[in-house]
Amino acid sequence: MNKNYKPDILIIGSGFYGTVLAERLANILNKKVLIIERRSHIGGNSYSEFDKKTNIEYHKYGTHIFHTANKKVWNYINKFTEFNNYRHQVLTSHKNKIYQMPINLETINSFFKKNFSPSEAEKFINKKTKKFKTYKFKNFEDKAISQIGKELYEAFIKGYTQKQWGKSPKYLPESIFNRLPIRYNYNEDYYQQTQYQGIPKNGYKDIFINLTKNKNIKILFKEKYNLNYKIKPKYLTIYTGPLDSLLDYKFGKLEWRSLNFKKEIKNTKDFQGSAVINYPDLKNKFTRVHEPKHLHPERQPFNSNKTLVIKEFSIKNDNEPYYPINDEKNRAKHRKYKNEAGKIKKFEFGGRLADYAYYDMDMTISAALKKFDQIKNKIK
Ligand code: UDP
Repeated sequence: MNKNYKPDILIIGSGFYGTVLAERLANILNKKVLIIERRSHIGGNSYSEFDKKTNIEYHKYGTHIFHTANKKVWNYINKFTEFNNYRHQVLTSHKNKIYQMPINLETINSFFKKNFSPSEAEKFINKKTKKFKTYKFKNFEDKAISQIGKELYEAFIKGYTQKQWGKSPKYLPESIFNRLPIRYNYNEDYYQQTQYQGIPKNGYKDIFINLTKNKNIKILFKEKYNLNYKIKPKYLTIYTGPLDSLLDYKFGKLEWRSLNFKKEIKNTKDFQGSAVINYPDLKNKFTRVHEPKHLHPERQPFNSNKTLVIKEFSIKNDNEPYYPINDEKNRAKHRKYKNEAGKIKKFEFGGRLADYAYYDMDMTISAALKKFDQIKNKIK
């Protein structure tokens, strides 16, 4: 790239937040956008690629299901991809037996060896949780036990959460548990049935290629950014990475959980019969097993005699951030960074990393669209 190249907008990071803003700025405002990306590929942690040996597409950073109740986001993203009809279902393996997740009537009946109706099951669980309802839910464990009782918590939640976050659920915020509803019916959908849902027919990589198609958008890969970066934009920089590294860790490191994946090819048509099975027991070091061919039943490799299986391990690695450890200590640190970054001239930031937030893809897109509405008048 020519040293004198001057984009109107410089965007750091090519995940959903950065590429949605690039798309709006180029297509609506006709601006020149330069995206720089530290990795060698587009799409942040939503990136997908094909396994060469099996031709099965997999999500490099863990299975991503697109789901949203936000019609504006759904209509927007459908301009850049078609979705298949996949609906996410998750199973969980406890003591070598498979149960449904999130906990529903089938999980309750199967686990307690009962045959309850919905109201009987609710009464049964209420009896178990009654004495815990008076807790002030300050942490994940108290909240979980007050909702589902001790037995279900210990079988399906405690070990998984311990492995996922690397600490006792007593020291985690209750908000994480809010992601997991308990259901007194046989609904097996992982997400609310009212949500739009699917996997991009041509994969996630294709969405990002489509979002950045405008010839006024340029992308530089394997490119690092700091506040003295050689290229200065005419109007604005939009930063989507973590704020601590941007500001030289002056208030200390923000902590993140990260993931490791171990891929294996199995010589069988179907290894586990589902896209994701969770492993809450501590005796297994991994948290989930992914079998990505199940995300695309409409594709040819679905019937082949090989399948790709990916084990997921949760690790601490602040340099490869996935999940913010949203405790008070880290949130306070993040507030200081946010305040400091807010003072930088012609500089905006957002997305899962910069906001240190547990966003799903749709929330990230929604936040980017809102940011566009906020900034568009400043740069016309
Ligand atoms: N969780 C659990 N058991 C499970 C699945 C989830 O205890 O079988 C807990 C765990 O603490 C996890 C949280 O619920 O971090 C949110 O799970 P979700 O599936 O939403 O996580 P994600 O898909 O975003 O990694």
